[in-house]
Amino acid sequence: MQAGSPLIGSIDNGSAAPPSLPALQAGEGTEEAAAVADIAIPAAVDVAVVGAGVIGLSIAWRLAVRGLSVAVFERATAGAGASLAATGMLAAAAEHEPGCHDLLALALESQRQWPQFRAALEAQSGRDIDFREGGTLVVALGRDEVERLRFRHDLHKRCALPTRWLSGPEVRAMEPALRPSVAAGLYCADDHQVDPRLVMAALRTAYAAAGGGLFEHCAVTGVDLEGGRVVGLTTARGSCRAPTVVLTAGAWTGDLLPPGLTAPVRPLKGQALAVRTTPDTGTLTHIVWTEQIHMAPKSDGRLIVGATVEERGFDDAITAGGLFALLEGARRAFPAIEEMAIEAVWTGFRPSSIDDAPILGATSIPGLALATGHHRNGYLLAPATAFAMEALIADGALPAVAQPFGIDRFDGATASRQGEYEAEYEAGTSI
Ligand SMILES: Cc1cc2nc3c(=O)[nH]c(=O)nc-3n(C[C@H](O)[C@H](O)[C@H](O)COP(=O)(O)OP(=O)(O)OC[C@H]3O[C@@H](n4cnc5c(N)ncnc54)[C@H](O)[C@@H]3O)c2cc1C
Repeated sequence: MQAGSPLIGSIDNGSAAPPSLPALQAGEGTEEAAAVADIAIPAAVDVAVVGAGVIGLSIAWRLAVRGLSVAVFERATAGAGASLAATGMLAAAAEHEPGCHDLLALALESQRQWPQFRAALEAQSGRDIDFREGGTLVVALGRDEVERLRFRHDLHKRCALPTRWLSGPEVRAMEPALRPSVAAGLYCADDHQVDPRLVMAALRTAYAAAGGGLFEHCAVTGVDLEGGRVVGLTTARGSCRAPTVVLTAGAWTGDLLPPGLTAPVRPLKGQALAVRTTPDTGTLTHIVWTEQIHMAPKSDGRLIVGATVEERGFDDAITAGGLFALLEGARRAFPAIEEMAIEAVWTGFRPSSIDDAPILGATSIPGLALATGHHRNGYLLAPATAFAMEALIADGALPAVAQPFGIDRFDGATASRQGEYEAEYEAGTSI
């Protein structure tokens, strides 16, 4: 698909008017799942979206608001992939790595869009998403870590990121419960956070209110092509005609690509846990990062400690080593965690591409678009992704900030980089 040519085509979808779609509120229990599985899927829509994670639902919501008929097909329940495993940090500065200038531009644009995205989401859903504006403190424990943090600060300065260097006492003035051995910090004042559970609940409500249809427990088994272009998709519950199909199936996106198309996306396992803070235990007021872990306080009293980064394929085991690393890393900076009750432990699979950046936009198959590979930044990048895909599908072109992230950037390089990844996977990494 050429830039400037709308993805929405004019295939005969068997229906002159857009069908009205049921807005489902599916439950997670087996009986409810069975009941949901009886609900008929629509015969035809303008846009079919595969996967109800934060990316799929954000795009679907924006398209439904634009007046398109949209159906999201989810094989489990909304958020069941990576999206309900996330911490919800919007960490454009703290996550920035050397050499990722295009990604930084997209991340900053999305961070700038978050207040607008949040206002619309909360207004249209009637739900709060716990958008907390305290910023992020990246702290150094010990001299070596101070030197590495200075390198990070220099990088931020070169990129004009407005982060501020703090001495140890200045860090402890902001977070008195941190260990006195904290030697320095970097304050990322614009790196806020949301609560993924609340964002996902708000997205499904806002999307339903805009007339979108969400079909849970409805696995997509293939994308349907006729004459080399997309005409719909097939699910476990029948087919749906659609001139535009958007694959937002996270780490599983590769399974759905038609023959001849590859996307270098793999699962990158993350283990995380939540502890319960109380007035007796105390808590943190900012997100705190160390070299090993991050800790994010939520307004409901949970403190999320995350996350391991493991090349383990789709192995979803919660391991002693993973939990030990998280708890040891947290205690090193924040001793009070020892007294806190563990409320939950979980794993998730980040959809990670081989350059850690998302894959956005059209493919070589007319009507087929991708929005995947959001790696550690699916929440951070949700607004920019949703607005960009809305612009592509409804108006015919990606905005400039999203254009470097097309699937065609891997042309010629895919095979060799995939080989590098496979070698890394064989070697494995623990955290
Ligand atoms: C531990 C952890 C912590 C994280 N912390 C943060 C953070 O603080 N900030 C941040 O921005 N990001 C964070 N992330 C990353 C973020 O969670 C992801 O980038 C984001 O959730 C990806 O969203 P997605 O919608 O692309 O994929 P997913 O949420 O994985 O959604 C894909 C969906 O597709 C469905 N699906 C797959 N195959 C099919 C099929 N054949 N038919 C129908 N449906 C299908 C799946 O069931 C799934 O629900 C974290 C991730 C992890 C694991």
